[in-house]
Amino acid sequence: MRKSPSIEPGMIDVAYVALGSNVGDRQGYLAEARRELAELPGTRIVGISSVEETEPLGGLEQPWYLNQMVAIETSLTPHELLTKLQTIESRHGRVRRERWASRTLDLDIVCYQHQAVSEPGLQVPHPGLADRPFWQRELSELRGGER
Ligand code: ATP
Ligand code: CA
Ligand code: CA
Repeated sequence: MRKSPSIEPGMIDVAYVALGSNVGDRQGYLAEARRELAELPGTRIVGISSVEETEPLGGLEQPWYLNQMVAIETSLTPHELLTKLQTIESRHGRVRRERWASRTLDLDIVCYQHQAVSEPGLQVPHPGLADRPFWQRELSELRGGER
């Protein structure tokens, strides 16, 4: 695949979004998230990883998560995508408590193919990628083994 070092505003890029749920109908929340991602403006789904069940992070006593990663082609910038993901989360009843608390739906931007952001409220690639083997597995599954 051809790689360019940067991207112009409004151009299509590939973004990888992590889906997680550990409350209620976890498969159902993942399915609704996939459907809503597909409906975002200027966006289409180009890859869906397998679903993995993982232990909660942060040592809190809570149910296990179902995780999945979706690759999208999108003209949304990282900031625009974060806002859309937060809207989807709140539509599905996520109540923001402490970090890593249980949630019906958690949507994180794992990385963009050609864009990076480093700000207090948004970091792309997501700093958690380095120590979340399940994200690394899902990402390489979506990239067809290419790293
Ligand atoms: P983690 O981000 O370690 O997986 P979390 O998902 O539980 O933890 P949240 O409470 O969902 O954390 O989000 C905390 C803040 O992280 C959000 O308000 C958002 O501004 C910020 N954030 C920074 N980078 C990202 C990113 N790449 N994707 C999603 N949120 C991000
Ligand atoms: Ca998260
Ligand atoms: Ca999050």
